[in-house]
Amino acid sequence: MTASLFIDGAWTAGSGSRRGTVLDPATGLATGEVAFAEVADLERALAAAERGFAVWKKVSAYERSAILRRAAALVRERAEIIAAAITAEQGKPLAEARMEALAAVEHIEWNAEEGRRAYGRLIPARAPEVTQLVKKEPVGPVAAFSPWNFPVNQLVRKIASALAAGCSIIAKAPEETPTSAIELVRCFEEAGVPTGVVNLLFGVPAEISEHLIASPVIQKVSFTGSVPVGRHLAALVARHLKRSTMELGGHAPFIVTAKADVAGAATLAAVTKFRNAGQVCASPTRFLVDEAVFEAFIDGFSSRASALNVGPGATAGTQMGPLAHARRVEAIDAFVQDARKHGARVVTGGERLGNQGFFYAPTLLADVPLGARIMNEEPFGPIAVVNRVAGLDAALAEANRLPYALGAYAFTRDLEEAERIGDELEAGTISINHFGHAMAEVPFGGFKDSGFGAEGGTEGLQAYLRDKFVTRRRG
Ligand code: NAD
Repeated sequence: MTASLFIDGAWTAGSGSRRGTVLDPATGLATGEVAFAEVADLERALAAAERGFAVWKKVSAYERSAILRRAAALVRERAEIIAAAITAEQGKPLAEARMEALAAVEHIEWNAEEGRRAYGRLIPARAPEVTQLVKKEPVGPVAAFSPWNFPVNQLVRKIASALAAGCSIIAKAPEETPTSAIELVRCFEEAGVPTGVVNLLFGVPAEISEHLIASPVIQKVSFTGSVPVGRHLAALVARHLKRSTMELGGHAPFIVTAKADVAGAATLAAVTKFRNAGQVCASPTRFLVDEAVFEAFIDGFSSRASALNVGPGATAGTQMGPLAHARRVEAIDAFVQDARKHGARVVTGGERLGNQGFFYAPTLLADVPLGARIMNEEPFGPIAVVNRVAGLDAALAEANRLPYALGAYAFTRDLEEAERIGDELEAGTISINHFGHAMAEVPFGGFKDSGFGAEGGTEGLQAYLRDKFVTRRRG
């Protein structure tokens, strides 16, 4: 798909000849190419987003909502096509890709509704002839950068909230997984979003972010990706005094106390850890298990992990697909080798699978010392560390030790323990006794090095609005 850039209402291969190669992660073979934007294309996108914003901000919230709901209906109609594209380029099992496509529908519909409720405030004034208003306004054209792990979901959250708020957007989607992003943007185009309001780019990420963030047209930046890149972009954003939402990496703890439903915890551990082959920013990594239930938990978790059916995402019955690209396989293997050197026990997995594609076995490491890299850096892949802890205090201390604070999980049947966990865990999003993250109506975001701001929920929409205070005196 070389006409992969959507600028000023038209699909184009851009003004240059640079192209990226798209691979099938299940085979490692090239399946297509994607056009890269040049500076002239970025300038055209900026001019289009500026014009698009002037039009879109004047469209009523009611009409914007109707257009967004049409886009949601198109995504629902095309969910199978979108899901197949996700699996072909990102690798996840088709069932997960379908869930991703249908979740995109929910994100658009929810924002379509919430955009109609972006209410301001009337503040009682000190004098009877004065009226004090707080008005909600769209912040302006947005530059958004979304990653390859959820090629549709990470992108749709940004587009849907920006559009619902009345902003225009220039989205740089991941070069590894362009087709589903293109299909998504087509749905907005065909739903009747005016020209210039949505623009889609691919290219060299650093070139695009530096150019867009420096432009006076851009009023807000939204990035989802790694902590190092987030740090770099946050510095650029600060230099140019833009608003931003940074949704960065995590290293989620998963606490299992002595009072937990251990079998339930082990089942959920295998589902949440190996979803999308662990390439999820809120994927649980450090399983902190009370010593009283350690053996029962690790038996249950490892038997489920080793029984997972790993294969091409498009093959029926596959429960875990390949990693998205070769870089991740190397990174994951390096984490495992380093942990072995530090004396960790490999309970299951710990090796590449097959000799084609980017497959890695679901891996459990036990009794891993704090000095191992995996205890400190985000693995972003199918590795779980299962360590014993002596009680809830020790579990909370270890959970909060790292500078990451995005997702966290806990299992306990004890109400007081559950309350303490909700209060004392440092994480932006905590699931206790179930998995409840990242739905359209709830906020999702991190603290500390995991970033700031939230996507989803009312908070996600508010991130694209600014407050204007108007005070008016009669006569
Ligand atoms: P990476 O750090 O090179 O890139 C991460 C993401 O940032 C990619 O989507 C990339 O296109 C983008 N990016 C990189 N440099 C950029 C720049 N200067 N301007 C704008 N965007 C830029 O690593 P990678 O190998 O692609 O991914 C691995 C790491 O990324 C993982 O370790 C994980 O921490 C992180 N990641 C996080 C999420 C998330 O949901 N938070 C998603 C994907 C990747």
